[in-house]
Amino acid sequence: VVDVRDLHKSYGGTEVIKGVDFQVRKGEVVCIIGPSGAGKSTLLRCLNGLETPTSGTVVVNGHDLGAKDTNIDEVREQIGMVFQHFNLFPNMTVAENIMLAPTLVHKMPKDEARALAKKLLAQVGLAEKIDARPASLSGGQKQRVAIARALAMNPDIMLFDEATSALDPEMVGDVLEVIRGLAEEGMTMILVTHEMGFAREVSSRVVFTHGGVIDEQGTPDEIFNHPKSERLRSFLSKVL
Ligand code: ATP
Ligand code: MG
Repeated sequence: VVDVRDLHKSYGGTEVIKGVDFQVRKGEVVCIIGPSGAGKSTLLRCLNGLETPTSGTVVVNGHDLGAKDTNIDEVREQIGMVFQHFNLFPNMTVAENIMLAPTLVHKMPKDEARALAKKLLAQVGLAEKIDARPASLSGGQKQRVAIARALAMNPDIMLFDEATSALDPEMVGDVLEVIRGLAEEGMTMILVTHEMGFAREVSSRVVFTHGGVIDEQGTPDEIFNHPKSERLRSFLSKVL
């Protein structure tokens, strides 16, 4: 469902993605790991058109994001994205945050959207928070609402960029639990994460990026137990 070919991205004169080929099949859970500045976030942002590649092609669900006749908004509806900072609308309740996109974009009736919000909140373990304001939630709870909000558009693919990095350690488990549940349901997911234990457990494939290229990729066993490249070995020795 994702097919990236020879992707390059420069900011000013500096190339931060230097020729990446990256494919993800339906139902795969791919974790992207690598040091700070490797280009992980930039790669993810190229997948939903938040960044425009300098060259190369990005095809998502059969839509070539660089083609003139591609409606990027339509493609974005099929991709849910969750960031490090939750970006909930503070002046809306939890339910309203989740109902916003389905009612606006899919023209879903309000009562149907509220029923959907209720179902998704139950899925992320926050049924009782439906009428709460974001300000009254913990970081982990906000992040779970952000996941529910992304799921409300019924996406084919979910992208997570360090979804747990800003959380207190005791909140991380709840959010990872929700992501693990999605993986078990067969959701196609691409996650940038620093949680190596989680990557090892949940991934069908792990991609190690370094200096704007994919240095090595493989199963969690190959990457964590039998790393080949010197760079990956050195990275793992620092983070494990
Ligand atoms: P981290 O683990 O710290 O989040 P990352 O792997 O996600 O790192 P990116 O955010 O993709 O790295 O950034 C890759 C490089 O591109 C970095 O050197 C960064 O400074 C640069 N960069 C990213 N976004 C921009 C931008 N909008 N303008 C200029 N340079 C940028
Ligand atoms: Mg990043």
